[in-house]
Amino acid sequence: MKQQTPVMRICISCKKTFNRINLVKITKDHKHGIMFQKGMGRSAYICKSKKCYSDSKIKKKLQKALKTFLEPEFIDIFEKEIASYNDYPNKGI
Ligand SMILES: [Zn+2]
Repeated sequence: MKQQTPVMRICISCKKTFNRINLVKITKDHKHGIMFQKGMGRSAYICKSKKCYSDSKIKKKLQKALKTFLEPEFIDIFEKEIASYNDYPNKGI
C-alpha cells in the first residue's frame, strides 16, 4: 500500500506547520490580483484560526509575504473569506 505524504505548509501568522488542506492559500495572481485557494503566483498560507486571520499584524505579514500593497478594505474581504472556509473549526489536523 502506498501512503500519501501530506503536503505541509507554514501559517504566516502563527508559524505552525499544517497539512495544506487545513490552510487557506492566498495568491497574488499575475492576471487577477489577490485570489483565495487558486491563482498562479506568489502565495502565502494561513491557518483558519481566528487568532491568526484577525491578527492586527496580518496585513503587514501578507504584504511582506506576497510582496504587494494591500488596500485597507482587503482585510474585511480577507476575514470574511477565511471565515467562510472555517466550517469545521475543531477539525484541525
Ligand atoms: Zn496560524
